[in-house]
Amino acid sequence: MAERAGETPAASEGPAAERVQASVNVAAIERNCARLRAGLADGTQLCAVVKADGYGHGAVASSRAALAGGADWLAVAGSRELCELRAAGLEVPILVMGALTQGELADTLAARGDVVVWAERQVAAVAAAGGGRVHVKLDSGMGRLGTRHPEEASAVADAADRTPGVELAGAMTHFATADELDDDGFFSVQLRVFERWVAALKQTRPGLLVHAANSAAMLRDTAAQFDMVRCGIAIYGMDPFGEDPAERGLEPALELRSYLADVKDCSAGESAGYGRRFVAERDTVVGVLPLGYGDGWRRNLTNACDVLIGGVRYPLVGTISMDSVTVDLGPDGGESLLGEPAVLIGLQGSGRITAEEIARRLETINYEITCGLTPRVTRVYHRDGAPEAARAAANEPGSA
Ligand SMILES: *Cc1c(COP(=O)(O)O)cnc(C)c1O
Repeated sequence: MAERAGETPAASEGPAAERVQASVNVAAIERNCARLRAGLADGTQLCAVVKADGYGHGAVASSRAALAGGADWLAVAGSRELCELRAAGLEVPILVMGALTQGELADTLAARGDVVVWAERQVAAVAAAGGGRVHVKLDSGMGRLGTRHPEEASAVADAADRTPGVELAGAMTHFATADELDDDGFFSVQLRVFERWVAALKQTRPGLLVHAANSAAMLRDTAAQFDMVRCGIAIYGMDPFGEDPAERGLEPALELRSYLADVKDCSAGESAGYGRRFVAERDTVVGVLPLGYGDGWRRNLTNACDVLIGGVRYPLVGTISMDSVTVDLGPDGGESLLGEPAVLIGLQGSGRITAEEIARRLETINYEITCGLTPRVTRVYHRDGAPEAARAAANEPGSA
């Protein structure tokens, strides 16, 4: 620990200040939101989804950036996430999208969160817990939360209308296949079912806020945008279709960085890591990065991904452990690299590793890569390279 990576200057960036850090560019989140806004019809609102700690980016800092970029609403999955945002002074409307226990419902209403309902018993529960704003959810084909029956959903809306203390604020659904362009038309079927239901509801309630689209649906079909879109993945600059985010004008906000904490010779036949899953075929130099699955760098990435050091790609080799991974620096890699910054997700020199690439190697989706970064990873915020104090970003009272 005496040797901070910081003492070694890097060619293309500042020294690594942390063992492992997720460096988040709030300006990128702002620009992604502005870019999404530009794709919406006038009057259509943007709801920034910041559940799961802002998909691993930090919920409060991401919320502030999204609002600065033009978001009107925020959405989370549960009451604890809502309370974190309220405690930080964020006073915009916040939709709580997940299922709620009785305790969570009370906390949500106390923190002025909008609640999702699909049964008359839930409307009664909202009234009993002190009242609040509700959004009725039709399950048009996702097969999770919501009622599959439009008439039942309409009855729930009627119940909300006539229950004192309950305000019917919105009507919503969620798409199952918006991110699959070859979905045999299922997206369109869901869209039609939902359109038919909300058209009837809106006849008597023109002010109802109708919303359905996640990032993929919003980018895929303007007909899915209605009065508001609920965008998560795209505001962080990741691609909802798992492709290169740059192709849709999205800018990844998060970079994952560490540094070369040790460098050692590894002769042909010598190994690195648990189970000797890397055995050098030739004399080489192995570097050690102080991160592992305890930080969310999944063990399935063993012998399966690269890292950027000095702008060059090197393969991670050997088993990913809880706190360390090893990298094959090649025969010419040497002592001179000790302390060099290492980029696991992000840009360095002309090199680039995206969350989408890591997701492909793990046969998962980009969402899981950033959500999976554990609290042990220090989040550091900047604005296009200018430091933005993490504490200020997290705790500053809202301007409202
Ligand atoms: C998470 C979530 C979203 C956001 O989805 P993205 O694909 O990240 O844009 C929208 N709506 C609901 C109901 C969600 O659960």
